[in-house]
Amino acid sequence: MHAVHRLFKYRKSLSTTVYKARGQRVKRCELCRLSLSHCICHLTPKAVSNAGFLLLMYDTEVMKPSNTGRLIADLIPDTFAFLWSRTVPNLALLDVIKDKQWQPFVVFPEQYVDSERQVVTEKVICHPDKRPLFIMLDGSWREARKMFRKSPYLSQLPVVSFTPEKRQGEQISSRYQIRSAANDTQLATAEVAARILDMAGEADNAQLLDLWFDVFSYQYQKSVCQTNKGDPQAIENLQSFVRQRSSF
Ligand SMILES: [Zn+2]
Repeated sequence: MHAVHRLFKYRKSLSTTVYKARGQRVKRCELCRLSLSHCICHLTPKAVSNAGFLLLMYDTEVMKPSNTGRLIADLIPDTFAFLWSRTVPNLALLDVIKDKQWQPFVVFPEQYVDSERQVVTEKVICHPDKRPLFIMLDGSWREARKMFRKSPYLSQLPVVSFTPEKRQGEQISSRYQIRSAANDTQLATAEVAARILDMAGEADNAQLLDLWFDVFSYQYQKSVCQTNKGDPQAIENLQSFVRQRSSF
């Protein structure tokens, strides 16, 4: 069990009513949250990473089977997950941010950040004694903006941002067909994390997370019987990448 699994259990224990996710009658795997017949747990790859992630999750986000922050925790050993609260500061969360081994960054689009704040848009460079900790605001876009504006403990931290349109002159569009976004350059949390790993010099892990995301996306769509826009080769692609990587 990782941090998101534990947070899911905790959040579930707080609910007095059953959380009504889409397809609520489906019997789901408690870990990957896909229907039991489409469970992907046995395929979960592992990464070794210098980076850590802290997922700040908006209320019921952790309950949603379509959440992709969980995919980051599947791969990256040092992933923390907390429920966001506007009013009650979470001491465990503050402890992680203050931990001297980490150099924390908030991941957020540059165009919504005040001009006086430090924004990293190219390579992420850390102090030699520290490891990067990427704080992801996990929720809908509206919820993420609210968390960004209303979390005083994040306001002093530098921001890491990438501009989809500018990356290598090509447009990145989301492969996240599960939720409808305002536009197709709006990426899922796991897709954003992959771009950030790339900026932190971990291209292999970025690719692994992308491939893992594709597996999840394809199986998810298969399990809900919607028109599957995912990649039918996703599992094969992941497995061949993992095989190649382990042969080095
Ligand atoms: Zn599973």
